[in-house]
Formats: sequence, structure tokens, C-alpha cells
Amino acid sequence: STISTNTPTAELQALDAAHHMHPFTTGTELAEKGARVITRADGCWLNDSDGNRILDAMAGLWCVNVGYGRRELAQAAGRQMLELPYYNTFFQTTHVPAIQLSAKLAELAPGDLNHVFYASSGSEANDTNLRLVRTYWAEKGQPQRQWVISRWNAYHGSSVGSGSLGGMKGMHAQGGMPIPGIAHIDQPNWWAEGGDLSPEEFGLERARQLEAKILELGPDNVAAFIAEPIQGAGGVIVPPDSYWPEIQRIVDEYGILLIADEVICGFGRTGNWFGSQTMNIRPDIMTIAKGLSSGYQPIGGSILSDEVAAVISGTEFNHGYTYSGHPVACAVALENLRILQDDGIVDGVRDDTGPYLQERFASLTDHPLVGEAKIVGMMGSIALTPDKAARAAFAADAGTAGFMCRERCFANNLIMRHVGDRMIISPPLVISRSEIDTLFERAWQSLDEAH
Ligand code: PLP
Repeated sequence: STISTNTPTAELQALDAAHHMHPFTTGTELAEKGARVITRADGCWLNDSDGNRILDAMAGLWCVNVGYGRRELAQAAGRQMLELPYYNTFFQTTHVPAIQLSAKLAELAPGDLNHVFYASSGSEANDTNLRLVRTYWAEKGQPQRQWVISRWNAYHGSSVGSGSLGGMKGMHAQGGMPIPGIAHIDQPNWWAEGGDLSPEEFGLERARQLEAKILELGPDNVAAFIAEPIQGAGGVIVPPDSYWPEIQRIVDEYGILLIADEVICGFGRTGNWFGSQTMNIRPDIMTIAKGLSSGYQPIGGSILSDEVAAVISGTEFNHGYTYSGHPVACAVALENLRILQDDGIVDGVRDDTGPYLQERFASLTDHPLVGEAKIVGMMGSIALTPDKAARAAFAADAGTAGFMCRERCFANNLIMRHVGDRMIISPPLVISRSEIDTLFERAWQSLDEAH
């Protein structure tokens, strides 16, 4: 075909609308507007087919942690493709990139999380986890432990298994989710749901829903609790300080496995290698993806504790994907981890540009439309409100405040995301101070225009 990035935008959009189905999108609406065609990117900036430079304050889908245009990653992929583009690890074979990456992840992951089972995405990795925790208990002679408890508004992926683990009601309404054996408790969203309780009281109350749910299902019937250290796609819900210590107490007391879904929080996003470190929790399993390769290759996985791995290793776990431990994806991920470490990027989120971003972010509450502003490391959200003191929400039919604001950002060449009436940022971790300034100038202007 003669189509290229030089083809006129309208023509690209027409072809896109004719043949390309977009995820999480109403196709007819998009066809009317025309999708924005992203042609190239470097650092924190995207180019579109009309020549605009767009500041990407979402790092793609929360994943381009080292920024766009890193030649080392392209070179790592090219080298590996020439040397060994593919081989599987199913039938008593292995390869060097998978060995190297697994050893590196074992070194970086906290505690005794030392064993990696690969997938190509976060969804696949959480599907692995769902089968894995049930298999773990069956192997330990407790096959009745089938229930996995999750949270409303959690996002754990889009496959039938991971979408069921997730708590997105709009997803559950379509196509037969959730599957049996998964229960949900409420999220610790104090701003929207805390009522008259203090954040700390509310955090405890929400954590104790886990205990109540375990007792309701029968403590001997529960396999695991899964949660994102900080709920991402649900609106970057930073839990009150009281929340995670109580959750940890409960999973310890009832002896159920804790799965930390680190797909967003992992690889520096919260100022440590993993969100579990920032939230001071001790998961038995971590889900990883996204920042593992900074999105340059599709790769995800589950990191298991010594004990969980030992139990699973005692049987044939009949599970795996053609691309589990794909050598090119592993080579790119390994190089990405080297960059995150050698360039001091994770340290910067904790000690340097992270605190600067947080300071600027907090000042958004000076805007009349902004209620709370919550940020950890480089993931944050603001709540848009018509009445700050009352922590009011916009009426459902005017619940487009977030959408309007996102549209204004988009028009102002800034990518922020909205979830209901929360606006989110999750920029590349390499964002500079001057880019942070630009981000907030554009965000403020967009808020003004949406007001
Ligand atoms: N888990 C979390 C916390 C996520 O945010 C996502 C994606 O946004 C997933 C899992 C699913 O990952 P993927 O889209 O790679 O399947």
C-alpha cells in the first residue's frame, strides 16, 4: 500500500475508521471525530500527523517509564532478533535472555520473590495468577480454597479471567464476567465515599471489609486477595495510611495469599522499584508488565515467593503461552531495567524530579475546580468538584467534567486521562523540571477552559 506517515490525516482517519476496531472505544463516535494519528515520539513528546507536539503525561498507557526513542532498546531488540528471535521454554529448554531477566528480577524484587513465570501482558499474567493460587492450594491439600477476593473498580486486565478479577462494572456487564469464584470488596476511595469518617477511620473500615468477606466465604475457602498497591485505572486511588497495614494483618491472620498487581506501580512509578515497597506490604506474588519493558515489547509476568514457587514446582502446572519468556521481549526488558538503574531514574522519582512534580501537582488544589490532589511518586490524580468543602461530585448527567477537561487537555497538546471526574497523570519517569512546568501550564489552562 502507499499509505505512510506522510499520507494526509483525513485519509488515514478514514481508513482507520473503516478497518480498525479500537479497544475501549465507541467506534461510531470516534469515526465522526477521527482518531488522532500519532506518528513518532521522543522523550515525553508525541508527534501527530498534523505536526503537533504533544506532551504525554500518561506515558502511553502508564508504561513508557524510560521515555520514547531510546536507541539502546531498539538495538537490544535488533541484536536479539538476529541471534535468537524465538524459542520457547515449555519442553525442557531455556535461553539466555530469560535466564538473565529472571535473575535480575529476583535481585530487584523485595523479600524472597525470586521466581518468574512469564506472559506477554498484565492480563495474561493475572490469568496465570488466578490458576496458580488455586493450584497452589490444591497441591497443599486444600482444593476447596477457590475464592479470590478483589476490589470494585480494580483493573487487572481485559481477558475473561483477569477482567473478572478486576472490578469494572462496565466490563462485567458485557460478555459473561465475572466468572464464578471471585468476590469483590469496596475500594478505599475516601474522597468519593468516605462520608464523615476521617481518612484513617475510613481506611480501616474499608480494609476490614476484607476480613468480613473472608468470614462470609469461610476462611478455609479463600485462596488469595489481589490488589494494586495504588489503584491505577480506577482513578489513581491512593489509600489512606491505615489501609495497607490492616490488609496485611488480615491476610497474615487468615493465611491467604496476597497478590500485588504491580503492572502500573512497578519499575519506579511510585519512587521505589515496586509499589509494594512504597506501601510496605509483603506480597506472595507480584504481577508485572508495562514498565518492565517501558512498553517497547509486550511482556509481563508473575514473580513468586520461594514458598509458592516450591509448591507449584512440585506438580506440572499446565499453563503457559507461546510467548512466555519471549527472548526479544526479555532482552529489551533487561536493557530497560539497566537504563532505569544506571540512569538513576527510580532514584530521581524518589528524590529529585518526583518531589518537584508532587509539589506542582499539589498546587492544582488552588484551582476552583479541583478538590483533592493525591500523588505518590509519579502517579497522581485530582478530583474535580463543584463544591470542595462538601467533597461534592458532579451530577451524573454533568459527569462529563473529567471528559471535558480531558478534551481541553487533548486540544492543548497535553495527554491526561480522566476516570469519571478524576484527572490522572502518570508521565514518563524521565520528565524534566521544565517539562513538568509545561505540563502544569497546560493542565491549568485546560482546567480554566473546562470551568
Ligand atoms: N493490571 C493493572 C494494574 C493494569 O493497570 C493493567 C493495564 O492497564 C493490567 C493489569 C492489564 O495489563 P495488559 O493491558 O498488559 O493486559
